[in-house]
Amino acid sequence: PGLERSPEIRPPEEQTMAIVRVAVAAPLPELFDYRLPAGWLDCEIGRRVLVPFGRGRRLGLVVDRQPESAVADHRLKEIEHCLDDGPLLTPQDLELLNWASAYYHCPPGEALFTALPARLRRADTDFKERRRGWRIPIDARAVDDGLLARAPRQRAVWSILQAHPEGIDEASLREQLGDCRAALRSLERKGLLEPASAEVPLDDGSPPSAGTPAPLPELNAEQQAAVDRIDQTLGFACFLLDGVTGSGKTEVYIRLILNTLARGRQVLVLVPEIGLTPQLAERFAQRIPVERAVLHSALAERERASSWLRAARGSARLVLGTRSAVFTPLPELGLVIVDEEHDVSFKQQDGFRYSARDVAVRRAQMTDCPVLLGSATPSLETLRNAELGRYRHLRLRQRAGGARPPRLLLADIRSQPLVTGLSHALLTRMGEVIEAGNQVLLFLNRRGFSPVLTCHDCGWISVCRHCDARMTLHRGRGRLVCHHCGDQADLPVHCPYCESPDLRPLGQGTERVEDSLRQRFPGIPLARIDRDSTRRRGELERVLTAAQAGAYPILLGTQMLAKGHHLPGVTLVGILDIDHGLYGSDFRAGERMAQLLIQVAGRAGRAELPGTVLVQTRHPNHPYLQQLLRKGYGAFAAAALAERADAALPPFSFQALVRADSREEQFALEFLERARGHAIALAHQGIQVWGPAPASMERRAGRFRAQLLLQSPERAPLHALIRVLLPALRGLSGNRRLRWSIDVDPLEM
Ligand code: ADP
Ligand code: ZN
Ligand code: ZN
Repeated sequence: PGLERSPEIRPPEEQTMAIVRVAVAAPLPELFDYRLPAGWLDCEIGRRVLVPFGRGRRLGLVVDRQPESAVADHRLKEIEHCLDDGPLLTPQDLELLNWASAYYHCPPGEALFTALPARLRRADTDFKERRRGWRIPIDARAVDDGLLARAPRQRAVWSILQAHPEGIDEASLREQLGDCRAALRSLERKGLLEPASAEVPLDDGSPPSAGTPAPLPELNAEQQAAVDRIDQTLGFACFLLDGVTGSGKTEVYIRLILNTLARGRQVLVLVPEIGLTPQLAERFAQRIPVERAVLHSALAERERASSWLRAARGSARLVLGTRSAVFTPLPELGLVIVDEEHDVSFKQQDGFRYSARDVAVRRAQMTDCPVLLGSATPSLETLRNAELGRYRHLRLRQRAGGARPPRLLLADIRSQPLVTGLSHALLTRMGEVIEAGNQVLLFLNRRGFSPVLTCHDCGWISVCRHCDARMTLHRGRGRLVCHHCGDQADLPVHCPYCESPDLRPLGQGTERVEDSLRQRFPGIPLARIDRDSTRRRGELERVLTAAQAGAYPILLGTQMLAKGHHLPGVTLVGILDIDHGLYGSDFRAGERMAQLLIQVAGRAGRAELPGTVLVQTRHPNHPYLQQLLRKGYGAFAAAALAERADAALPPFSFQALVRADSREEQFALEFLERARGHAIALAHQGIQVWGPAPASMERRAGRFRAQLLLQSPERAPLHALIRVLLPALRGLSGNRRLRWSIDVDPLEM
């Protein structure tokens, strides 16, 4: 139905903008001109259109209108359909997307359509949804429900249906009665109800939470100072809220959100993880009585489109979402908040490789409103911006509500006997904590049973056929699984190499530590939290809620557990293996390690109970660990920044990666060699060209991966180079078996 609608006809004197410029939903660098069909006078900027393209038709978005085109008249095609009742994106939304598309050197069509919720990337929507429903047939309305006296479920359904003669959708019935499909079927068989589909508009709002909001705690002096500084800001400014874990950053957000809403503006809050949204959404729901919209990738397409439309139409005043929510149209935006700004998941790692944090800052600047970046462990980029005075540095040094900071201890595990990765020191403390009725959180960033299966006789190890990676042993599933490409294999009974039956797991994953803990602490409830154990929808929330209520004395998890969750009963945190973070090949490995350590540590002793963090390491004298332990994250970051300055690494220089991959090694390498030639010929002003070099995981999912690094002391010349380099690279890459892309400000090398 949405396809048939065409714009209304206006008097001929207005007929000037006959050409529309369209960003077509495809990874092509150009925009395309189309003619308006005869009789159409307009198709506004920001509207979606269907256009003939190649031999088919494509969805596109109007980004500009002009009286004429440089394309020869006979080659210009006509728009086929103009979708939507009005523009989906405003000129301001387009301005932001244009900027991002240019900055990340991503084709405009790809950038624009990445920003739209999936439902709106299809042409077949008219923003209505047909839902399955039921009603009582007219000739059955007079039936006496005494007939159903012995079928209480059916009678319950029947009485609701009687109250809705026009019909009711099945989802609402289920909300009221739970699963009532059997009762529905019986009633249908008796001829007492019939299907009735109900149409619901997609942007059907969720009503604002009823009741009085929970009272706000009184802010401490540092919190109040932060709120005042930001509230006094008129127009754009970027603030770093650098507050230790549990210092009450979220309370600062809530206060600022309320003040901004009171001024009649909308607020956008970005969080790194889907797992964090329910918790924050719940806290906002209790305190902020306005219509809210939540946006993340675990939502059904319909829900996402609904949130997006409600935000765009201004009915949702507070939008909480993950990465891509940064592009949500918000006509009255007055404040942007990025929580856990250091988190790498703000950077998209494929396609349109934008950083939602950096786009958020730019968006606030374009909107002329304040933006707040919050973290207990700010990224070195952000700290550098604060140092330079571009961002204003606000600090919360103390835990709110009287909670004490955790005590950090190192456990030297060199030549210590370990029980599945747990030292005697850690096990002893665990026993004490459990005895006292408190909780222990163990952190191990490796899921599965064991990271590798090995042959005790010949040394064979389980490697992936497609990647430079080992297959992880998952005993629960009885499989070997590659965590990089997802390939799976049955557990071998004999060594595939020497046929020895003596195959042994080597090293620990969460599954194996769980097994061992269940033996060591029999009868003590334990929750394992990783991607495998929380696969089912809602499972993570369920376990976390129970954990918060103290249901599990032992919590064991991967980095899913490290982020933001408030676990008031935890008094001991054990970090089983920090060492792989100390010597990573990526120059950001140290920064990541420090952030992870501080974030995990932050789960301990958040309430009245003081906490202890025990870090197991074979490198207790490592300067990073020593600095973190003695002086905290701020001192660590200062030292790490000094090292980056010495090495001229970001944030003291700017980088872009040309990435390429192909099944055959030579294609990717040849392409990058030639790219290097072009880059060197075109580069000037101190730009360095490094490589080509193999990616840190050279082979992944059967493809060989390599990269060329461009680095520059200044941003502008780097971008100038990329602008001229890209057309040259497009000319080079005739090879269909080669994939390549450009990654501006790469976070993963
Ligand atoms: P952060 O976001 O920095 O980790 P939160 O905002 O979650 O910190 O605050 C940690 C805990 O302290 C929460 O339970 C919160 O309700 C409480 N809290 C925060 N600010 C105050 C305050 N001013 N007075 C009392 N309790 C507070
Ligand atoms: Zn063998
Ligand atoms: Zn693999």
